[in-house]
Amino acid sequence: MRIDILTLFPDMCDTVMSESIIGRARQAGNVEINCVDIRNYTLDKHRRVDDKPYGGGMGMVMAPQPIYDCFQALCSEIGEKPHLIYLTPQGKTLTQDRVKELARLDNIALLCGHYEGIDERVIEALEPEEISVGDYVLTGGELPALIVADAVSRMLPGVLSDDECFEEESHFNSLLEYPQYTHPSEWQGRKVPDVLLSGHHAKVNEWRRERSLERTFYRRRDMLENADLSEKDLNFLSNLKKG
Ligand code: SAM
Repeated sequence: MRIDILTLFPDMCDTVMSESIIGRARQAGNVEINCVDIRNYTLDKHRRVDDKPYGGGMGMVMAPQPIYDCFQALCSEIGEKPHLIYLTPQGKTLTQDRVKELARLDNIALLCGHYEGIDERVIEALEPEEISVGDYVLTGGELPALIVADAVSRMLPGVLSDDECFEEESHFNSLLEYPQYTHPSEWQGRKVPDVLLSGHHAKVNEWRRERSLERTFYRRRDMLENADLSEKDLNFLSNLKKG
């Protein structure tokens, strides 16, 4: 998969995407991530990419021309139109289900706004999907774009090793994950649950499933509606409800 981040701050994005698991995945060729500087496409002789808002008011608005030309250049380079996403607090909130769908695409482009946002006409012209990372406002779309790029990349084949598998993680199957422990087996008088030291895989799996159901029940009961639950799970949950 190829991900292009269209931004005024490419170094900021590239630095984050060069570290840890995603950095290694890029080096191994499991994902291609390019951080594209929108400013390189401005036709303004002073390299300006923003201006004051019509109608007055605070702040600056990103101009349509550099963004439009940047995206057109990307389409020409790839030879097709990538799925364009504009990161905005006005978009639909990102979910793991949407992340799974995005991970099936060959090309996505992530458009980062900054300042007061971007000129509405370029949104009308490019018709991007609009995604928010939550009901709060950040200074720019770079952190949200990095969130999307990270969440999507880690679902691609070869990015996570087997022991970092995502299928039991929170939200993947509409459940929260069970608690995790590592060495030592006792720390500050707190012991790792005996079953995890037993080496009995069936019992470990049963314990983990129950803790996962319990956590979801107490913390995010709304998620259980979409979870794939067995008869045994339902009995376990009905006992929680009773008691
Ligand atoms: N004036 C805009 C509004 O009220 O909707 C907010 C602009 S915000 C200060 C600047 C840029 O940050 C936005 O264009 C967007 O790209 C990004 N941004 C801020 N908060 C975001 C969020 N919760 N999700 C996704 N992008 C966000």
